[in-house]
Amino acid sequence: MSTTTATTATKTTTTRTTGRRGSILLGEHIPRITAVDTYDIRFPTSREMDGSDAMNPDPDYSAAYLVLRTDSGDGHEGHGFTFTIGRGNDVQVAAIEALRPHLIGRPVAELCADPGSVSRALIGDSQLRWLGPEKGVMHMAIGAVVNAVWDLAAKREGKPLWQLLADAEPEWLVSQVDFRYIADALTPEDALELLREGRHGAAERRAELLRRGYPAYTTSPGWLGYDDEKLIRLAKEAVADGFTQIKLKVGADLDDDIRRMRTARAAVGPYIRIAVDANQRWGVAETVEWTAALAEFEPYWLEEPTSPDDILGHAAVRRAVAPIKVATGEHVQNRIVFKQLLQAGAVDILQIDAARVGGVNENLAILLLAAKFGVPVCPHAGGVGLCELVQHLSMFDFVALSGTVQDRVIEYVDHLHEHFEDPVVVAAGRYAAPRSPGFSAQMRPGSIAEFSYPDGAFWAADLADRKEVTA
Ligand SMILES: [Mg+2]
Repeated sequence: MSTTTATTATKTTTTRTTGRRGSILLGEHIPRITAVDTYDIRFPTSREMDGSDAMNPDPDYSAAYLVLRTDSGDGHEGHGFTFTIGRGNDVQVAAIEALRPHLIGRPVAELCADPGSVSRALIGDSQLRWLGPEKGVMHMAIGAVVNAVWDLAAKREGKPLWQLLADAEPEWLVSQVDFRYIADALTPEDALELLREGRHGAAERRAELLRRGYPAYTTSPGWLGYDDEKLIRLAKEAVADGFTQIKLKVGADLDDDIRRMRTARAAVGPYIRIAVDANQRWGVAETVEWTAALAEFEPYWLEEPTSPDDILGHAAVRRAVAPIKVATGEHVQNRIVFKQLLQAGAVDILQIDAARVGGVNENLAILLLAAKFGVPVCPHAGGVGLCELVQHLSMFDFVALSGTVQDRVIEYVDHLHEHFEDPVVVAAGRYAAPRSPGFSAQMRPGSIAEFSYPDGAFWAADLADRKEVTA
């Protein structure tokens, strides 16, 4: 496929035709990374209140997106992105561009054989590190780049990423994890043991995954900006579609939340799990009071009640709201905070995000930590492309690490999948295992062209309209 047709004025390209580390042997061609193209892609989702919650009332789902191009002649590119919700996506793109010097000229084969090497180089940049370390915009940019490398590696192997990881030798997987700052909770020896144990029965689970897929839950009915009629209709549709869990956004107004929970519980009946998600709206005491007021409707888990940095706060909440489970992770910045959430007994459910932390390598560390502590992982997804990415991590976990889908579900939101070359397939409440090579990260060229900000066809027309209105 030709992504070059997607280029617009918003694309920024750096190309070197001569490799930085030229070959000594005359005439020998070593394929290298030749370009890192970046795109600021935004979808106008705020207009339908899709994605609205108590903290984020008007998100325009966006991707700070990159393509790694090579001169290998095999047509493979590495696609990656991180997710933002509109303003600031340009800042995120600029952060990805700051990493470009680490990539141009790198030999493709070496990079793909050891994505951990690029992860370490990016995290270790001695000047950029000041902007984190290992958190925020810069770390998300590293995640986007590292994920693009994994996309390229999986395409070159001819495997979907989940399968590449599940087929990999435990020793190699351990070599991909940075144990700095987490070895007090998880040593390389622990990780090796978990991965070796995970190999028992992997072939049977792989067959089961291909046959049955992986369980999902849906957030589509529960956005805060939807009226009750839409909530009821979408909640009933979700049950009819085979989902056994839905999620409601809460935290803006208690009376509204009580009414919406009552409405949702009546719509789905007593046997469907309803999770609630406060998107960090509360402090600890408020969390406990608000949750008590919703308890009669039996919420299954309470998601992001408070700041993602408040480890001890989550622990206090968990003690207070049991048996309602506490879940968090979509804004947890790195493996070190996940480690502490587990050490402090602060969560019942750990929610990884494919594009928040430093990419696949750091998520391997987090999956291993969760396995060590025996805490189920129920990934955050939705946004744009997050379902496409994170399914691979859960499927690897099922086949070759935790070995179970018990109490595990991947979030599913039915938005924006049509913009991807290999969109998720969710049927009867389950994700079908991707079969195409790669990380399912690649957007369609037409979508990139149309929704590039501000010069893509959609935004150019939209901004011109707005100018006319205000003139
Ligand atoms: Mg959430």
